[in-house]
Amino acid sequence: MTAPGILWLTRDFRLRDNPALLAAIADGPLLTVFFIDRLTMAQGAASRWRLERALRIFDAALRVRTGGKGIVVLRGEAHEILPALMKRLSVRQLHQSDWPTVEMQALQDRMRAALRPLGAGLILHPGHLLVHPGAVRSGNGGAYRVYSPFARAVRQRGPDRPAADAPPGIEPCTEPLGGLDLSTLDLAPDLHRGRAALERFAAPAGEEAALAGLDDFLDRACAYPRERDRPDLDATSRLSDHLAVGEISPRTIWARAMLRAEISPEHAAGIDKFLSEVLWREFSWHLLIGFPEMPVACWRSEWEGFPWQKDGASLIRWQRAETGVALVDAGLREMWLTGQMHNRVRMVVASWLTKHLLIDWRAGLAHFADCLTDWDPASNAMNWQWVAGCGPDAAPYFRIFNPERQAEQYDPRGDYRRRWLAGFDRAAGPEAVAWIESTPRDWHTGPWRAGPSAMLAEGRKAALAALAHFRANTSET
Ligand SMILES: Cc1cc2nc3c(=O)[nH]c(=O)nc-3n(C[C@H](O)[C@H](O)[C@H](O)COP(=O)(O)OP(=O)(O)OC[C@H]3O[C@@H](n4cnc5c(N)ncnc54)[C@H](O)[C@@H]3O)c2cc1C
Repeated sequence: MTAPGILWLTRDFRLRDNPALLAAIADGPLLTVFFIDRLTMAQGAASRWRLERALRIFDAALRVRTGGKGIVVLRGEAHEILPALMKRLSVRQLHQSDWPTVEMQALQDRMRAALRPLGAGLILHPGHLLVHPGAVRSGNGGAYRVYSPFARAVRQRGPDRPAADAPPGIEPCTEPLGGLDLSTLDLAPDLHRGRAALERFAAPAGEEAALAGLDDFLDRACAYPRERDRPDLDATSRLSDHLAVGEISPRTIWARAMLRAEISPEHAAGIDKFLSEVLWREFSWHLLIGFPEMPVACWRSEWEGFPWQKDGASLIRWQRAETGVALVDAGLREMWLTGQMHNRVRMVVASWLTKHLLIDWRAGLAHFADCLTDWDPASNAMNWQWVAGCGPDAAPYFRIFNPERQAEQYDPRGDYRRRWLAGFDRAAGPEAVAWIESTPRDWHTGPWRAGPSAMLAEGRKAALAALAHFRANTSET
């Protein structure tokens, strides 16, 4: 038997621009293995559900190319199972797409240690980012901490080019290895009633949907700079779900978008703005690599002393989308039903929690991590710290979003709020009704009710007072 090439699949569920997959195919008959391990199960429920969809669709795509051999899904820890398998099959190297979180790096270290006695190694491949983290360095040789010079440096250097597509015919490894039946797999049993909501309202998954979504967006990119902040319009790309599981690579997005800008100059300015957002994602990952504690610790350490309130009841009302503030509740309900929330609304929702309610950004980050299908550890952490005011290149603390003014400006007819809130005004949309049906029974959810309007001004006043106190007691300026 020829030794197979093994792909240890964790992310990057795609056939295009997937160097790890190509390397495994080059090594021998392909064996693709996915582990339901502790790290996967520690992820939030919605993103686990989304991962399962990605896994299923990629499995079907692989079967088409291999004549019926899909992904071997095993329950357990990769470093405890794979080395013995590799020994048995005489495999000397294992391929994985690099996804550089601290937790994944710890897993990779364990795998390397387990492979060492066999004289085998783990090979990490790029594809998750536009450029290698070491490829762009600031003037003093360190990692960039400010977005604008970082984005300029990446544009100047140019992103890496996408790798070739996987071949149309792939020789599979035929060794019988068992594995779980994907058709009965449930990675998110803890979703309960939320599962039906996601199945109904979440965006389509898979590599083909990602590519079609990108092309569709590029057709209307000229409106992006003008409309991207409008949650009532369909003006953004909605690619974040796909990027979060790697159904499309940022390098593919960049290459296709640049080509399109050349062919259709009327879209060039819109595409340029869109790529600057893709660079925010890139920036967040470069920050996370340089500062792995970003999801748990304030970037600016003096902020650890900020007097966050321990207001459990307010936090629960916020989590349950019952703050009484229409735009905030609409956004949280959109997230509950679809796994997504418009970027402008994410900022307003996060600002409400950290400024008006003075609740620690980490509580908000955790709720988003549990509910977002596009959960991304780097973007989530960078943005929460940005809104809270404690991150690098953060919004100044005194920037406190006024949800009513934001709604007047970005949802002028109330379409977005009406869509998600039953009780906002006369006609409740199907989504607004579905939200009520999808919440846990013990929440006793009813029609949405506005809170007292005084809480807007009172919350702002309290936030500014807390800042003044904080400043007087720390070196924060
Ligand atoms: C508090 C908060 C938490 C967030 N958490 C996440 C998260 O867990 N996962 C996530 O993917 N995004 C997160 N974002 C960023 C942003 O809201 C989403 O990326 C965006 O809404 C996705 O929609 P889109 O694909 O239509 O974006 P588009 O406007 O079409 O942008 C294209 C791509 O650029 C990237 N991008 C856009 N805006 C940002 C941004 N502010 N920061 C980083 N990357 C960006 C995304 O990859 C996005 O898919 C968060 C923002 C805030 C304010």
